[in-house]
Amino acid sequence: MKEKSKQFETLAIRTQTETTQFSEHSVPIYLTSGFVFDDAEEMRASFAEEKQRDLYSRYSNPNVNEFVEKVCAMEGAESGYAFASGMAAVFSTFAALLNSGDHVVSCSSVFGATHGLFTNYFPKWNIECSYFNVNEVETIESLIKPNTKFLYAETPTNPGVDIIDLEFLSAICKKHNILLVIDNCFATPYLQNPIKFGADLVIHSATKLMDGQGRVLGGVTVGKKELIREIYLFSRLTGPSMSPFNAWVLSKSLETLAVRTDKHCENALKIAEFLENHPKVKWVKYPFLKSHPKYDIAKKQMRLGGSIVAFEVEGGIEGGRSFFDNIKMCSLSANLGDTRTIVTHPASTTHAKVEAEVKAAVGITDGSVRISAGLEHIDDIIADLIQALN
Ligand SMILES: *Cc1c(COP(=O)(O)O)cnc(C)c1O
Repeated sequence: MKEKSKQFETLAIRTQTETTQFSEHSVPIYLTSGFVFDDAEEMRASFAEEKQRDLYSRYSNPNVNEFVEKVCAMEGAESGYAFASGMAAVFSTFAALLNSGDHVVSCSSVFGATHGLFTNYFPKWNIECSYFNVNEVETIESLIKPNTKFLYAETPTNPGVDIIDLEFLSAICKKHNILLVIDNCFATPYLQNPIKFGADLVIHSATKLMDGQGRVLGGVTVGKKELIREIYLFSRLTGPSMSPFNAWVLSKSLETLAVRTDKHCENALKIAEFLENHPKVKWVKYPFLKSHPKYDIAKKQMRLGGSIVAFEVEGGIEGGRSFFDNIKMCSLSANLGDTRTIVTHPASTTHAKVEAEVKAAVGITDGSVRISAGLEHIDDIIADLIQALN
């Protein structure tokens, strides 16, 4: 089914589970926990993995297989496994491949829950983590030790919208023989394919732009076959698997990922350009604005600039809060990648308890705001921002 000659949109739409005897056009939902066997020999061969088929939905399921196959086609990956959430994907990937005594080098600008996993749980399994600042990638090599197993990063980062050069990270990993693991959630497989730049594993929270409509949770890890095999063996024992229903929803969502993401990016760029010229805005960060410090790298590794814009309102924490109180249409929420435009004020919400130094390192100031550009008409989004800024 993986026809390399086909384009992204075609693969997203035409990668489908085999049709049943009913010749349905749209893939049905296979809500079944288990599968049956013809005889003892078939059951034996299936469990011995001599025969490729579904056994039990904790292991695999037709809807989940379709979703995984689509993501593999989109990312140019050999293999994958789907999870109940993005965090289940992050945790299971680490838990399956790391041993007690291993060391991880991670960017400090990673998703909050991932950071929490590194700091609150890794130490009790004797896994150590060292951090590099997103804008000081030249320090990465000095952090690598003989027991370093993973180099981990997200790009663009959350919520600072900084960019990291994937080719540069990959060269370090090759030199030191460590695995490059990228959380590609902000970019989606449509905008950026880390495997092309040398990543070994790519993780997604499917909850964000992959679903795109704020309905279901999901996660997926794709990459090298032998690594995914380890992740699969761990996951089929521990049970973080994606539900067939969520896989069905997400598989349908992937069919429109390209057209939706094109529009998200178009709206985000227009928002960024509008904010850049507004007198009450101190700075704006968007990967495809020429003023972005890593504009050239963003252009090299991304198809478009993504759906997230970061900016700072004049007036510090009060300026940020007042901007929020005056927003009328956009949603005040911590989520992102929805059809609805979402504004977040990290300093008073998601990062309220984070020390000032750490906040500064990940690009958060008191007045900084993150916008996840939705699919409403751009004129209505900008009108809401204008009245809230005034
Ligand atoms: C949301 C998110 C996650 C976690 O995904 P869930 O589906 O919420 O568990 C991980 N990484 C990034 C970058 C995210 O934005």
